[in-house]
Amino acid sequence: MSQSSLNEKRNRSGLADVIVSLGSNLGDREWNVIRGNRCLGGYDGIEPLLFSSLYESKPEGEGFSGDFVNAVSLVRTAHPPGRFLDICQEVEIRSGRVRSSVTRDRTLDIDIILFGGLEIDSDRLRVPHPLFKKRTFVLRPLLEIVPGLHLPPFMTSVAEALEALGDSIETRKISSRAII
Ligand code: ADP
Ligand code: MG
Repeated sequence: MSQSSLNEKRNRSGLADVIVSLGSNLGDREWNVIRGNRCLGGYDGIEPLLFSSLYESKPEGEGFSGDFVNAVSLVRTAHPPGRFLDICQEVEIRSGRVRSSVTRDRTLDIDIILFGGLEIDSDRLRVPHPLFKKRTFVLRPLLEIVPGLHLPPFMTSVAEALEALGDSIETRKISSRAII
C-alpha cells in the first residue's frame, strides 16, 4: 500500500482505505478496543491492515467518569461510507455500548476519521472527522502506523498536525503495538 493511497477517492478495485479511531472508558477498556478492532476486521468486505499500540487519554468534555484507552486502525473496505458506519455502530453495540442521557461513558466508540479521500457532510456522517486534528489520542497512534500520511485539507503531515497542538502529554502510550 502506498501511504498516499488514502488520499485517493477509491483505488481502481473500488476499495477505500479507512482510518478509524477506537476508544473505551468503561469495563475492560484494553480488551474492548482490541476486540472491537478484531470484530470490525472480521466483517466481509473489511480487511484489517494496521493497528496501533494502545494509548491512554483524559476524557474530552463533560459526562465521562474515567480515562480512555484509544487506538487507531487502518482497514481497507469495499463498503460505501453509510454501510461502513452501520457496521461500526453494530460493533459498538456488540461491545455492550448503551446510549444514555445520564452518562457518556462507553465500552466502545468507533469514529471514522478518514474514508479514502472522500469529504462527507451529512446528518449522520462527517468525514474527515471534524475534530481529529485537535485530538492527540488520534494523531499519536496515527503517526505510529502511517507516518507518511498527508492530512486534508492542506495535506500537512501527521507530525506537523501534532506539533501544532503543542507539546501535549495528555495522551500516553500504554502498550507496544497490539497484535491484530
Ligand atoms: P461521539 O463519538 O461524538 O462522542 P457518538 O459516538 O454517540 O458521539 O456518535 C454520535 C453520532 O455521530 C453518530 O450517531 C453518527 O451518526 C455521527 N457521526 C458523524 N460523523 C461521524 C464519524 N466521522 N464517525 C462516526 N460517527 C459519526
Ligand atoms: Mg462516536
